[in-house]
Amino acid sequence: MKKIGLIAICLAFATQSFAQTRGECGFIADEAFMARTLANKKEYHKHINNRDSEVRYVPLNFIITGKTDGSVMATKEENVLDMLCRLNESYAEANIQFYIYDGFEYVYNDNTYEDPGVGGAVDFFINPKRAWPDAVDILIGKNAATPGGSGLGITLGHYNPSKDWVVIKSSEISYSSETFPHELGHYLSLNHPHNGWDADPWDADEHGNPVSISSSPSNNAVPIELVDGSNCETAGDFLCDTPADYNLGFGWPNCNYTGGAMDPNGDLLAPDENNYMGYFLECANDYYFSTEQFALVNADLDLRENVLATDWTPIATEITGEGSFGFPESGEVLPYFNNFEMYWNLPEGATRSLVEISQNFLFLTTEFKAVVNGNSMWIGQDLLLPNKAYYVRIRPFNDYVTCTNSLTFTSNFTTGVGTNTDNRTLDLDWSVYPNPVSSNTAVQVDMNMSAAMTAQLDLVSMSGQVIESAQLDLQMGSNNWTVGQNLSTGVYFVRINTAEGTAVKKLIVQ
Ligand SMILES: [Zn+2]
Repeated sequence: MKKIGLIAICLAFATQSFAQTRGECGFIADEAFMARTLANKKEYHKHINNRDSEVRYVPLNFIITGKTDGSVMATKEENVLDMLCRLNESYAEANIQFYIYDGFEYVYNDNTYEDPGVGGAVDFFINPKRAWPDAVDILIGKNAATPGGSGLGITLGHYNPSKDWVVIKSSEISYSSETFPHELGHYLSLNHPHNGWDADPWDADEHGNPVSISSSPSNNAVPIELVDGSNCETAGDFLCDTPADYNLGFGWPNCNYTGGAMDPNGDLLAPDENNYMGYFLECANDYYFSTEQFALVNADLDLRENVLATDWTPIATEITGEGSFGFPESGEVLPYFNNFEMYWNLPEGATRSLVEISQNFLFLTTEFKAVVNGNSMWIGQDLLLPNKAYYVRIRPFNDYVTCTNSLTFTSNFTTGVGTNTDNRTLDLDWSVYPNPVSSNTAVQVDMNMSAAMTAQLDLVSMSGQVIESAQLDLQMGSNNWTVGQNLSTGVYFVRINTAEGTAVKKLIVQ
């Protein structure tokens, strides 16, 4: 991993003057950040018309924080999927797309949960032993305050692969919030259109009308952008297709600015209320980035390709069709309540499942909730209760395709009173290979036994049909069973039944 030094690019620390009750992100561009914006601007012309170029995928790690005792989590996984869906829609025209690098990470720590961006909680994550050093960490906590201020999100980026991170407040984790596209905009070197006024919204009494101050109140290194565009290259956000804005959206009650602020020339300001990087928060989700903003984020990504994972292509297949349940079937009454494999069929292209099991058909409480890779899970000894009706809900997705709320499918079943002794889990050292296997290749089942025993071996289809079986006297030490030549493609299970219990492995034929 090439390291490009420790140039802090986006220290979002609010100043003492930042005393507003509501700020969108508390971001104020410092000198280094603006230097980076201007450096990217020198390179961005090649991206102005990049619509034919290939999509570039940016890896994200979603870290959901919760209280130390696990009683409260900052958000639900489905909200993160919806938020990522919105993010990818918002950057689609830039040919930049984001994906889940390796599932979700969970952190249980009261301080981190309260505010991942403050104090010791920051150090908690800036850790050289972090599991995923080459993706952008998205930390989700109850708050996202900057020290001394408040906000909905924080963007801290460094040209250092172990310190790329963004904090988002739990209230912003949804499809309908524009905070996530906004924060990733900062991450990729975008300023606010009202750069220089970040912590000081225009106020006629304080700044004059027409504006009479000579430099921006939050950062006197930034010249005041004029409405006529004559200094747009060197003032405001340094971009010319985002009109002058003196932080006019801050608290403005709708998406149509009529406040009458005038620039030093006496020209009325006409800010772009619908720009993602602005502070107009009442625009009915009709937000966008400008052409120059998209060119700039692409220029920034040219640099970041050195530090973000580029040796891995995400599973970005479209998801088509519908999912369905395999076992238990919908409405099935089981004779037992534990020790069985629950499985389902994912729609084409889906590789992950957000699984919920509840006694409540509205899923108001859940007995089990987790992201499962693939399409099956083991219902162990104590997960469910005997003699209860259960509802199961599955939301399919993959690393990249997460706009899948409408593909969620549900089922229900009723448990019986008995323990499934036939299916007691057998602690066995065994392997099934190759797996996945091609349909014309035989499968080897190797079992390393700690004691001799008789075993019933079955190859079972998704629908529960036994395809092949054998009864073997297994010896202590290694044993082998060859099975399954000329299977049609699909999912199977290899099951070993002994007096000691049952072991099951999934086999994929492709
Ligand atoms: Zn911001």
